[in-house]
Amino acid sequence: MNTTTQPLITIAIDGYSSSGKSSMARQLAKTIGYRYIDSGAMYRAVTLYAMQHNMISDDLAIDEQSLIAALPEIDIDFQVDGERQYTLLNGVNVESDIRSMAVSNRVSPVSAIPAVRHALVKMQQQMGQQKGIVMDGRDIGTTVFPDAEMKIFVTASPQTRAQRRVAELIEKGIPASYEEVLANVVHRDHIDETRAESPLRRADDAITLDNSTMTVDEQNRWLLDRYEECIAKSNR
Ligand code: C5P
Repeated sequence: MNTTTQPLITIAIDGYSSSGKSSMARQLAKTIGYRYIDSGAMYRAVTLYAMQHNMISDDLAIDEQSLIAALPEIDIDFQVDGERQYTLLNGVNVESDIRSMAVSNRVSPVSAIPAVRHALVKMQQQMGQQKGIVMDGRDIGTTVFPDAEMKIFVTASPQTRAQRRVAELIEKGIPASYEEVLANVVHRDHIDETRAESPLRRADDAITLDNSTMTVDEQNRWLLDRYEECIAKSNR
């Protein structure tokens, strides 16, 4: 697609855990030549850092003071390698580590810490300064880019999401049980929706997509149609 003559916009894709929003967002970015940022990977990287530095105990208590003090030392970046994108934590590729169940079980309490959110939201806003970005997460349309021209909120049943996550983990060679993943998805939804600081919430001007019964191709087509509508509106 020739995007050179199109106005650059900001695209915010929020939604529940494992709703398929990252795959859709990544595919859209590729099709229209935009930068893709997985904001969840950034929260996962901070969580991994906290685990590596013994800031989270076995009973999941977080040493918030130490983590907050360490925030300036945490550098997160993305490296694109052909079709794949890797998350770098202080220059090290942690893509596989941040997807582990150990990180999934700890990421929501870490993400609820206001200072962590402030630091990551600031980084995300800097990444989006030039527009031409697709970012997915929980608070992109509400907090990170409240003025985004296109906002999507993705949802699907917890069972569908857990099944998808298990398939994704197994494909990556990460062992996973359906029951454990379902419990994690439901638990993370709860923490994400009830935290005080920028909870998971549909922005008033977001378009909702329930993709429970859609194929990947159907979702990608649906999203591209929304983008084309949005661009047509901007050109009017
Ligand atoms: O998108 P993903 O499931 O990888 O995100 C992992 C976790 O990071 C979420 O469960 C949520 O706690 C947190 N998160 C967040 N805000 C975002 C993106 C992710 O709080 N914008």
